[in-house]
Amino acid sequence: MIIAERIQDIRNSLPEEVTLVAVSKTHPTEAIREAYDAGQRIFGESRPQELRAKYEALPHDIEWHMIGHLQTNKVKYIAPFVALIHSVDSSRLAEAINKEAGKCGRVIDALLEIHVAAEDSKSGWDYQELLDYVRSGALSELKNIRIRGVMCIATNTEDEAIIRADFERLAAYHAELAPMLGSQFDIISMGMSDDYPLAVECGSTMVRVGSKIFGNRNYTQKE
Ligand SMILES: *Cc1c(COP(=O)(O)O)cnc(C)c1O
Repeated sequence: MIIAERIQDIRNSLPEEVTLVAVSKTHPTEAIREAYDAGQRIFGESRPQELRAKYEALPHDIEWHMIGHLQTNKVKYIAPFVALIHSVDSSRLAEAINKEAGKCGRVIDALLEIHVAAEDSKSGWDYQELLDYVRSGALSELKNIRIRGVMCIATNTEDEAIIRADFERLAAYHAELAPMLGSQFDIISMGMSDDYPLAVECGSTMVRVGSKIFGNRNYTQKE
């Protein structure tokens, strides 16, 4: 019951138009089932094989989101069913998704992950490189991938001013890219358990909440 209550609390605190992705990585299917029974239908995972196994074990009206770093050779595990890939961080990955989606006869929705955090370690596009890539027109050649918006992971810090600046930067990038990417480019994925209310203040349309729903993860997530 606790999972159901946490989901309800979070939902109640979010504006209606903000999508809640329940991040279930490392948690067992029973926990996901509990969230499902509470009405949650969108789940996020960060490892392709784990995502595939959970997809096979759980009801097929679940919308599965891939939120973690994705290697090109692993796209094939999720291409047949994934609803949204949050982590497109290179032209190579965009091309690989496009190719695998084509094999499945699908158009896969995806977000451009942009590097906004202070740390070097965080993945995502350098914004200037992304801008060059989008302006080159190469993305619009990829007919089996549909770019729906942007995503970021904020700096890992207690300093709210830094996190706010990261979120505001992503929202500004989204606004700058939007005229080039069309009306379906309407998702800003930002905000996790510790910072999603701030992300919503800064314009997030999709929050990715894990530990605040499912509790702490038992093992360290490989990024
Ligand atoms: C794990 C993860 C989350 C959820 O993190 P919590 O702090 O547990 O809410 C969100 N986004 C990404 C990309 C993640 O890898």
